[in-house]
Amino acid sequence: MERTPVSMEEALARILRHVPPPLKERVGLAEAAGRILAEPLVAEADVPAFRRSGVDGYAVRSQDVLGAAADRPIRLRVVGTVQAGDPPLDRPVGPGEAVRVMTGAPVPDGADAVVMLEHVEPEAPADGGDEAVGASEAGKAEVFFTAKSRGSGGRRAEAPSAAIVVRRPIEMGKNVIEPGEDVRRGERLLSPGERLRSGAIALFAAYGYSSVAVFRPPRVVVISTGDELLEPGVPPAPGKIYDSNAPMLVAALRVLGVPADRYGIVPDRPEALGAAFRLLVDRYDVLITTGGVSDGDYDWVHPLIAELGGEVLFSRLQMKPGQPTSVARLGRAMLFALAGHPGASFVGFHLFVRPFVLSALGVPPERARMPEAEATLEVPFGRRSKLPRVVPVRYRFDGPRLVVRPTGRGRSSHIAELAPANGLMVVPPGEGLPEGAAVRLFVLDALD
Ligand code: AMP
Ligand code: MG
Repeated sequence: MERTPVSMEEALARILRHVPPPLKERVGLAEAAGRILAEPLVAEADVPAFRRSGVDGYAVRSQDVLGAAADRPIRLRVVGTVQAGDPPLDRPVGPGEAVRVMTGAPVPDGADAVVMLEHVEPEAPADGGDEAVGASEAGKAEVFFTAKSRGSGGRRAEAPSAAIVVRRPIEMGKNVIEPGEDVRRGERLLSPGERLRSGAIALFAAYGYSSVAVFRPPRVVVISTGDELLEPGVPPAPGKIYDSNAPMLVAALRVLGVPADRYGIVPDRPEALGAAFRLLVDRYDVLITTGGVSDGDYDWVHPLIAELGGEVLFSRLQMKPGQPTSVARLGRAMLFALAGHPGASFVGFHLFVRPFVLSALGVPPERARMPEAEATLEVPFGRRSKLPRVVPVRYRFDGPRLVVRPTGRGRSSHIAELAPANGLMVVPPGEGLPEGAAVRLFVLDALD
């Protein structure tokens, strides 16, 4: 078979043409964190739904205390108390009156500001005057707590207070949270494709939802190929290595919020791999193989794609590592055949599988792509290459600058350089790059 190499960009473009429309499901709010929202959240009501007090204090008519000053106290009669959770007071606040309100309590009609507790003085009950405070509210004790800042040195004197004295004016609207100030009814708060973070969960909860529509992740299975591979737990043996690609891929998928199954290790026999493909192709949306994709004597992936009538999207890349990386459609499933070297599987996953899987999860295309930035290379990178090369790096912020340093030599057979990598840099074809060179950086640990 002729294997015409395609560029990284072309490969990705071909892959993204095959993203299936995601399916929805409903999950409990507690399980929704990290899932992708499937339906818009449109505000059903104003938030807050009623005028609420932003502080503990007294609801007043600002015009009543317009002329208040240190030497010009204004006395207001306290005609009721409203605690957070209480229904609104059954009477408006009239001239010369105040209503004690707690944070979150409905502000009574008539009042247009709330004077903070710390800014009023209680009038002793004895000179409380004619009003029987709180009497209209059956069973509710009218208790006044003096402000901590006042004379009593932080001790709280508790006494029912019939009136308060205000010694400063208050702006209209002060400490009153207006209906719809936070959210207006009809406003679109969240759009499909949004990953549900804790702030979004708060929003759903604020509207009383107990469940939310999210997209179902694609069903993904990882298949390791190679006679040399061992499962964990079995004793080491001459010529054998432990399978590290499958656990790495399952872990990388998990970070994206996609649970994946492992089929296990398939030996380098066409019957074995063919049987796996036939079994899995109807049960999964995405098959990821590692190894066996070159043109070696034991590389059975390509002959099998042909035998199963698969549609090859590309079968060779114009980049390193992972030149033999191939992607095909097998029935309704997508087959990502990643090259076996750990570095090639790692790079292939992030550049090609990740955007596909995120798109299939309902993340919009622009956010499904690898996030990238320009960074400055802190040390020279000396490997020459005729092809663009993608190299694991560690990036960090040096003040406002993003700087990168390779975590190894960019050898795809090496595993150790993958562990500390939080990015991948692109080294263009040529002699390598000098210190200080501007490089294209793919950020590995950022989510959509
Ligand atoms: P292949 O593409 O099958 O020729 O494999 C290329 C290299 O990657 C060989 O050295 C394999 O031993 C190694 N390799 C293949 N699969 C895995 C795996 N699952 N875990 C670790 N190394 C692997
Ligand atoms: Mg192999």
